[in-house]
Amino acid sequence: MHILIAGAGIGGLTLALALHARGIKATLVEQAASVRELGVGINTLPHAIKELAELDLLDQLDTIGIRTGELIYKTAKGQDILRQPRGIGAGYDVPQFSIHRGKLQRLLFDTVTARLGPDAIKTGHRLTGFAQDADSVTAHTGHADFQADALIGADGIHSTVRKHFAGEEGPPSWNGILMWRGATWTKPFLTGSSMIIAGGMKAKLVLYPIFNDPARPGETLMNWVICAKLGDASTPLPTREDWSKSGTLAEVMPHVEGVISIPEVDIPALIAATPEFYVYPMCDRDPLHRWTENRVTLLGDAAHPMYPVGSNGASQAILDAVCLADHLAATAAPTALTAYEADRREATAAIVLANRKGGPERVIDLVEERAPDGFTSLDAVATPDELRAIVGDYQKMAGFTRDQVNR
Ligand SMILES: Cc1cc2nc3c(=O)[nH]c(=O)nc-3n(C[C@H](O)[C@H](O)[C@H](O)COP(=O)(O)OP(=O)(O)OC[C@H]3O[C@@H](n4cnc5c(N)ncnc54)[C@H](O)[C@@H]3O)c2cc1C
Repeated sequence: MHILIAGAGIGGLTLALALHARGIKATLVEQAASVRELGVGINTLPHAIKELAELDLLDQLDTIGIRTGELIYKTAKGQDILRQPRGIGAGYDVPQFSIHRGKLQRLLFDTVTARLGPDAIKTGHRLTGFAQDADSVTAHTGHADFQADALIGADGIHSTVRKHFAGEEGPPSWNGILMWRGATWTKPFLTGSSMIIAGGMKAKLVLYPIFNDPARPGETLMNWVICAKLGDASTPLPTREDWSKSGTLAEVMPHVEGVISIPEVDIPALIAATPEFYVYPMCDRDPLHRWTENRVTLLGDAAHPMYPVGSNGASQAILDAVCLADHLAATAAPTALTAYEADRREATAAIVLANRKGGPERVIDLVEERAPDGFTSLDAVATPDELRAIVGDYQKMAGFTRDQVNR
């Protein structure tokens, strides 16, 4: 069996490794001429890390990322709402990782090249279309045609393969929130592996360290995100969704200074010290009713682009990849693809919809709604059980409670 994967992002590369581990040949076509370390920080949850550990990548993850130790939800003025351990400290068999997206992609890319051979990834090949018959699928890239038993569209939020299933959907739908994201070297805070999510419905801060370099003792590469609500779903997209579009201090600072402050880190100073940062609209697409047609299916952001709340974008792409590889190891391409869709489509659609309502971050929205000026006693605003239930229900729905992962 030979599987062709369009897109060498986190999802496509993980699929290639998972197929290889099951003795199945995979080839990737990637539009970029080379893999550059693009993007900023992402969190990868224990259910996905368990799959990367199965692929024997845990030691390397430790050299490029940071095991997330705790997550603290706070008000916009820095009052603690909920503090929970994460990963191993929370009793999981495997860690959660805070990591630079580009470094994770680089690790997966290099591992595919090492394990599958230097010809496995065809860079500079943009998938433009495909045709299939009863026996095979042929993909066109402009430079060459590739014949395989199945074609997997792991080609991200602007997927060419998805257009086949969904038609011309237009731009992704925007919820009126812009996100500025950056990373810069600074002093660690709290445990050195803590993550903070602070704010509420108008503006929100996400903060976590993603890399420690032995050559820079006493410093950590700190990832930050500022989300600000600038409109609603009817507001036209102010900027194309491009992961590499630079942001400016003039745009972001009005949503930070006098709006969000936490005692642990001087956020305006952190942002001002960041040499370059990026602006991206928070957008997704409606869940599809179908991902698969005979020998062609979708995976990762191509299948289910979601708002980046709850740390599920990369994690769900990794879960898709392993699920699909398992089905392809068990049965022939068309049947395997249908079985994969049955396992994954509705499960991921539920996450897309939950993220539209704020996902686990609803805990901070709820407290802000009930106590917009802060509180003297949190218990009078929301009980610990109520807050833990919001986070716990989200974890269960997205498949990463401790019991689900440690099975
Ligand atoms: C450049 C970039 C930067 C990102 N930065 C962040 C970030 O900072 N934080 C965050 O949370 N998420 C980021 N993401 C998104 C995040 O990586 C995904 O949500 C998640 O990892 C799921 O990955 P995926 O493999 O499904 O899609 P992606 O990671 O988007 O990968 C899709 C791949 O397909 C390739 N591709 C697209 N169209 C074609 C085509 N027609 N033919 C061949 N190849 C094609 C793309 O070049 C890309 O390499 C970024 C994505 C990209 C592409």
